[in-house]
Amino acid sequence: MTDQEAVTVVRKAARAIVYDRARDRHVYRSDVDIAFRNDEIVYVGTEYPGTAERSIDGSRKMVMPGMISIHGHSSSAVKAKGCWEELGSPRIYMSTLFEYQSLMHTDDADNIAMSEFAVGEMLRSGCTTMMDIFGAYDGWLETLADTGIRAYVAPMYASAAYKTSTGHSMEYVWDETAGQKGLDEAIRLVGQAEEHPSGRLRGVISPAQVDTCTVALLRDSVSAAEELGVPRTIHAAQSVHEFREMVNRHGLSSMEFLEDVGFLGPSAILGHGIFLDDHPWIHQYPGKRDRRLLAERECNVAHCPAVIARRGILLNHFQSYIDAGINVGIGMDIYPHNIVDEMRWGLVCAKIAAGSQHGTSLAAMFHAATRGGAQALGRDDLGIIEDGARADLVLVDLDHPDMNPGYDPLAALVFSGLERPICDVFVAGRHLVQGGVVQTVDMAARAAQLNGIQQRGFAAVADRDWARRSAEQAFPLSLPLVD
Ligand SMILES: [Zn+2]
Repeated sequence: MTDQEAVTVVRKAARAIVYDRARDRHVYRSDVDIAFRNDEIVYVGTEYPGTAERSIDGSRKMVMPGMISIHGHSSSAVKAKGCWEELGSPRIYMSTLFEYQSLMHTDDADNIAMSEFAVGEMLRSGCTTMMDIFGAYDGWLETLADTGIRAYVAPMYASAAYKTSTGHSMEYVWDETAGQKGLDEAIRLVGQAEEHPSGRLRGVISPAQVDTCTVALLRDSVSAAEELGVPRTIHAAQSVHEFREMVNRHGLSSMEFLEDVGFLGPSAILGHGIFLDDHPWIHQYPGKRDRRLLAERECNVAHCPAVIARRGILLNHFQSYIDAGINVGIGMDIYPHNIVDEMRWGLVCAKIAAGSQHGTSLAAMFHAATRGGAQALGRDDLGIIEDGARADLVLVDLDHPDMNPGYDPLAALVFSGLERPICDVFVAGRHLVQGGVVQTVDMAARAAQLNGIQQRGFAAVADRDWARRSAEQAFPLSLPLVD
């Protein structure tokens, strides 16, 4: 019998977050046994009747389902730590996207190290399933598989690249052949992911952004996703610039355009989905139909609250999307890769955006980070603790100081503890985090590599920047460094 074939039982968990199908929501239960074998939960109840090869004392633990990120870029994001948090292009509406994103060069080895580090952060925070969106590179699939996480590999491609030569105007450098080649490569890699022997990799068709893909490429992408039977995702409604660009080109909002090309649907995951035509920053646009459109087409939104909050942007607003009938899942986009922190940001920002403490709830945010993500991926067996579900479980140490007093442990975790009280994480029944330590990624070794990766990336900045700025000029420190 291999380690995984053994039955593991968490005995008498003080609290467990299990799913109540009748109420269609997560609920707490006390003094629960939860048993799993391989990648399947085989028992949830008062006392496991079978023999278990491994037993974990749950009397001072909360057991919760593994959380799900449906938007992120593990292979590239970490290098920008310290550079992008407060950076943006004030004359191009937003963010690092157009002016700064491509300044730091990395190679495949760098990408692998960053991806491993990012996945380690995810696992440590209780994220057990992730979508990874990035340009295809050698070693990507094996890297993800080796970490043990459940990964949705989304090879990204586009017909155009963003460019600015002035810092105030935007150009699109079109190469339609490259876009089609990118789709072909993506189809090949998605096929490999779907058939990967680990059984933990799946694929997603991922044209990069709504404003960087031709109509033909988007239509071909939808056909490919449907043929392969996999989800499709795209960055859409992520900036005011993008919204205006789509109106300028087509007389349509980003969502109306996606409807026009046939992209919307229950398998469509919209990365960010912030600037719908009723967002307060979109003035005087006559449509006001985007929200209804997304609901009617049963679309999914990948909400990445922390990164947009750093840019001063709010989704308008989380609960109103849900109330409209739009499924919302959570993504971590860039860094840090901490899904509990992401829930906290999402929750606080949703209340601010709603203008009310009662604008949303922790229950709704936790649902988004579990069942919302699972629904977007077309999975009824993830983000859930019940018989027959996948064996992705997170154990929280109720004796951790941040968890006390422990009246409401999920609230203590999200509002006070973050990832710190998370002690053990199982993915597909494998014990990937033990005593708070990631077992499949050498986090210290990877962390030691990150500075070198960033410094090498810095060396290329002046050549790539329109204004020929050095890295230090392009990415000013938060405090001046003096002699
Ligand atoms: Zn993104």
